[in-house]
Amino acid sequence: MIIDSYNRPHQYLRISLTDNCNLRCFYCMPEEDYEFTPAPQLMTAPEIQAIAKVFVEEGVNKIRLTGGEPLVRKEAPAIIASLASLPAELTITTNATRLHRFADLLQQSGVRSVNISLDTLNENKFEMITRRNQFSVVKDNIALMLDKSFRVKVNMVVMRGINDNEINDFVRWTHHTPVEIRFIEFMPFSGNRWSSNKVFTMGEILDVIGKEFAFEPVQGEKSDTAKKFAVPGHAGNFAVISTMSAHFCGSCNRMRLTADGKLKNCLFSSEETDLLSALREGRDIRPLIHACIATKAEKLGGQLATNFEQVQPESIHNRSMIAIGG
Ligand code: SAM
Ligand code: SF4
Repeated sequence: MIIDSYNRPHQYLRISLTDNCNLRCFYCMPEEDYEFTPAPQLMTAPEIQAIAKVFVEEGVNKIRLTGGEPLVRKEAPAIIASLASLPAELTITTNATRLHRFADLLQQSGVRSVNISLDTLNENKFEMITRRNQFSVVKDNIALMLDKSFRVKVNMVVMRGINDNEINDFVRWTHHTPVEIRFIEFMPFSGNRWSSNKVFTMGEILDVIGKEFAFEPVQGEKSDTAKKFAVPGHAGNFAVISTMSAHFCGSCNRMRLTADGKLKNCLFSSEETDLLSALREGRDIRPLIHACIATKAEKLGGQLATNFEQVQPESIHNRSMIAIGG
């Protein structure tokens, strides 16, 4: 078992398949020209399989594929198929633009749940946020995944003045559609134009929803990042990921492997451990994994103020979200 110095067992690994993406969400891609990592520096499909196998032997029971956009990686089918053979739950976070090509493979690979990013229900605003015109493909693919009986969670990053006026449109969508909306507080990463006044907090989100809907809390798992709620009579439900206003670091069980094979013990950690170079040199990566997690900070990577209004984005040492793997 991989346990940190605060006695938190770590059983959930998020693997970024690439820092490349076919969308350009302004809150995720850095503002400056971004160079995608050259192919030789990325973990190959067999390297991903080898590293993931070690994590599973060390107690990992859930793996999420992410990116960048995981489904733009050429080897995505081989990677999905190889990870499916490991005794761990396999899931994916995707922008859904390519899901129609992958739905069958995901089903055959035992994937039962997908997280799909959609920050607006308005086609023009979608193009403004993502700088690409893929709204109807994403909506169609959400419907396709529901038709195929996948559990579908929709990630909506709430940003003041951008899409906070759509919160109740998303809740309304859950009336007849069994989607699980996850309202995510806007987080600061390198070059993403974050400022504390753009954070629309959990308290504000629940206030907005409460004006139109009666809702009640739903009991979740200890390690859940999302606080869940249900509107009686709705086919779907909603949750809030309150990283900025009410962190949930005390029960964190997550580790992140970047597409270039670096292990991060927290989304906000400045340090990373190079597992890929060690693997390529034929060294045992187990001690490196344990040492990396042992140094995990108690909360928020040890570098974000607990009061998000005091966070100075320019003083944070981290990658951009697209380069970490969200
Ligand atoms: N391309 C895939 C997608 O969009 O779902 C997977 C990678 S994306 C980085 C993973 C998740 O991180 C998405 O739901 C995205 O909305 C979220 N995300 C990216 N930047 C964020 C930020 N600054 N604050 C909060 N969530 C963010
Ligand atoms: Fe791409 Fe996902 Fe980032 Fe949007 S949020 S730019 S889809 S990686």
